Amino acid sequence: VSTKRPYDILIGQDILKDAGKYIRERIDPCKICLVTDSKVNGLYSQVLTTSLIEHGFQTCKVVFPEGEHSKTMNTYSNILEALADEGMSRSDLIVALGGGVVGDLSGFAASSYMRGIRYIQIPTTYLATVDSSVGGKTGINLLNGKNLAGAFWQPSLVISDYKTFDTLNDDELLNGVAEAVKSGMVAENTLIDKVLHRDYAYVIERCVSIKKSIVEADERDTGMRQLLNFGHTIGHCIEKISSFSVSHGHAVAKGMVAESKAAFKMGLTENDVSVYLADILGSCGFDLSIPYDPDEMYYYAHNDKKIDGDSITIVVPETIGKCRLHKLPLSELPRYIELGM
Ligand code: NAD
Ligand code: ZN
Repeated sequence: VSTKRPYDILIGQDILKDAGKYIRERIDPCKICLVTDSKVNGLYSQVLTTSLIEHGFQTCKVVFPEGEHSKTMNTYSNILEALADEGMSRSDLIVALGGGVVGDLSGFAASSYMRGIRYIQIPTTYLATVDSSVGGKTGINLLNGKNLAGAFWQPSLVISDYKTFDTLNDDELLNGVAEAVKSGMVAENTLIDKVLHRDYAYVIERCVSIKKSIVEADERDTGMRQLLNFGHTIGHCIEKISSFSVSHGHAVAKGMVAESKAAFKMGLTENDVSVYLADILGSCGFDLSIPYDPDEMYYYAHNDKKIDGDSITIVVPETIGKCRLHKLPLSELPRYIELGM
């Protein structure tokens, strides 16, 4: 990825056990703090630590409870204190081993510990592999909403081993399906069929390539990168309202259908792609209902990062595989949300 500091993305099956070698090929011996959650720790931290030690790295580890509820200021601060307790210096390295929650928290800690140290993403969920591990968006949730504090901080390397998907349950795999369908909707209609057929190797390569091009063109999310927010304006409200009992990808799936429906009903697009999306996502097993109070949804939508002055940037699907950005006056936001539900 040709960002200011370029980095590689390595994709393969059963490559976690060789992670130490891939890191050593790029980074001199140093101390590595492995950051992971309670579930992934039991599954994959041993094999990774062994490989790191074999290749001359010193290691330490921070583990926090699994799940979106951990993506808080409190966990963030615990990670920073642990880095200091371990005596980590500016030339040392964080390795984020886990899903998007681990990646977002570790990346944010890396961006701010001693004003910024290097970190490596080793995603272990389908969602993190196709989306969150690439692009350098890091952050945590605040009480008022998702991802409201954070930083742009690119990793030094991404190592994606899709053998780790073997231990994901179907619900977690669906989270990745939603983000991969999103990439297809935004940039490449032919990708969607491959997503539905669970062709992981192909889908990962395409999603990562699409994200790479978009991030290279707009690292700081001031323009076209916002297309990747398709489904997320309404999706984030759903995550928040449900107290995260609806997980990120499932919320984005509902959000993509709702945002497509709303854009069509408001005359912003000629095509009602919500019918198509509801059909394919429904067939994958997504529950697409949004059984919440529109006023409460609107309350959370108001805390969205995409609001600028008196408008909010929304993503309008023109057709399958092509979306555009649209500045919606904030006065029309309640109607937009209601029409999507
Ligand atoms: P997650 O990190 O909470 O992982 C989901 C669950 O799967 C957790 O319980 C975890 O312990 C478990 N798990 C992880 N790997 C496993 C494995 N191999 N086997 C068995 N269980 C495993 O959630 P997620 O779905 O990976 O990521 C969602 C988060 O990512 C959200 O917070 C979202 O906002 C964020 N996100 C960030 C970006 C970005 O660009 N930074 C993009 C998309 C999503
Ligand atoms: Zn997302």
